[in-house]
Amino acid sequence: MLLYITGEGYFNMNDTYLELWVKTKYMLEKSVGQKTFNEFFNPITKIAKIENDTVFMLTPNNFVKNRIDKLFLNKINDYINKEATNSLRFKFITEEEVANVHMNRVNTQTINNMQTIRNGNLNQTYTFDNFVTGRNNRLASTIAIQVADQPGVFANPLYIFGDVGLGKTHLMQSIGNYIVDNDHSKKVLYVKTENFVEDYVNLLRSKQIEKFNEKYRDIDILLCDDIQFLSKKNQSQQEFFKLFEKLHADNKQIVITSDRPTTELKDIMTRLTSRFSWGLVADINAPDLEHRIEILKKKLTTHSIQGEEFPHEVLELIAKNFTSSVRELEGALNRVIFYKTMLNEELTVENAYEALKPLLKGKEMNKDLNKTTDVDKLFDVVCGYYNISRTDIISNSRKRAVVYPRQVAMYLMRILYEIPFKKIGSFFNNRDHSTVINSCEKITFGIKNEDSIKRDVENIKSKVEK
Ligand code: ADP
Ligand code: MG
Repeated sequence: MLLYITGEGYFNMNDTYLELWVKTKYMLEKSVGQKTFNEFFNPITKIAKIENDTVFMLTPNNFVKNRIDKLFLNKINDYINKEATNSLRFKFITEEEVANVHMNRVNTQTINNMQTIRNGNLNQTYTFDNFVTGRNNRLASTIAIQVADQPGVFANPLYIFGDVGLGKTHLMQSIGNYIVDNDHSKKVLYVKTENFVEDYVNLLRSKQIEKFNEKYRDIDILLCDDIQFLSKKNQSQQEFFKLFEKLHADNKQIVITSDRPTTELKDIMTRLTSRFSWGLVADINAPDLEHRIEILKKKLTTHSIQGEEFPHEVLELIAKNFTSSVRELEGALNRVIFYKTMLNEELTVENAYEALKPLLKGKEMNKDLNKTTDVDKLFDVVCGYYNISRTDIISNSRKRAVVYPRQVAMYLMRILYEIPFKKIGSFFNNRDHSTVINSCEKITFGIKNEDSIKRDVENIKSKVEK
């Protein structure tokens, strides 16, 4: 640890730590955006106390403290670990807490106990802090944080949908954990829809209505996961409807997840599905390549594995081959970690490849980062499908007959080959990368909302993959 002697002749660590804090602030200013920086970090200038290797910075109020704890603490301490070569940590504390330190100590045990009971149904590893955001989930995660900040006020219900393994449960439980952490008195109920149905069936049998109501109605927040499982369960739907009405009328926050948009829920009564879109609806899509690499890096830190032990090419190999679900991506990473531990030798692309083989189920491993020949084939197929020329598709023409096929081609280059937006632009008369992003977004939206677009894209995909 770096110490130095001041003019007064005693070790003054405060200055060193303050210096480090100023450096950290500088890093934050560059990475979190000016508005957030001014609101959260700029006012923090004083050390409240130092305990062992933990420096407690004085924070203006609870709101700021909680926000920093939930959203930035890991980032800050990752940075500190790089900058200072010891196990130093920053924590944040309000004046009120400083004054109540003694009381807090006495109470911690009880609070912890209470929390375990209340959190019984929440998985505490699912937090906003370890949820990696990217273009595919930014809207959903931003809204989720707002909902967690203002339960029952900001958007009620919140309806999150997306394919399996993309982080819906993680995000939903993060809301619950955030709320309980902020206010231990809040009762959060996380329930899988299947379990709700089961509870209801048991209720019919046992007639223990009080027990049922105590579980479902005496709560502040309801997190109901995978609502599509209410399909065809008419009586359970009735009961859920009543529950929804009651909680909603009392301004209790409801969060729902599903594998599809509210309009596509099958065999669920419309008076329920229409209510699901009363608040806000947010979707989560599959992460792109860069995002998948970020997720892998985050997962490595939770395994306490240092970046250097894990070559970037290996991360890229995993990210390139497990594209559709974060759960699979995580599974692949765990397998390589396990293999690495077993082998006890340096990790290379080759031995990672060996480790991953069984997961690929005969699919060929994608080790190739340069796919120009595939781009050629894609152009051929798209032009053939829409009966337009290569010159047309590349040109700047704004005719719909050309614009739409061009957007489809851009979209497929991204989805099938994960070519960077800028590079895709270079295939189309050097178009700007924002044009490419726009095109990809239009087609993504089109696939969800228009059958004809969905069909076109599927047809072209299958021709390209032949
Ligand atoms: P879903 O409920 O959509 O099927 P989950 O929430 O169960 O998906 O996510 C599957 C796994 O992937 C979990 O272990 C979760 O932590 C992880 N995961 C998903 N998205 C992210 C993300 N953006 N950042 C970090 N981990 C993620
Ligand atoms: Mg889930």
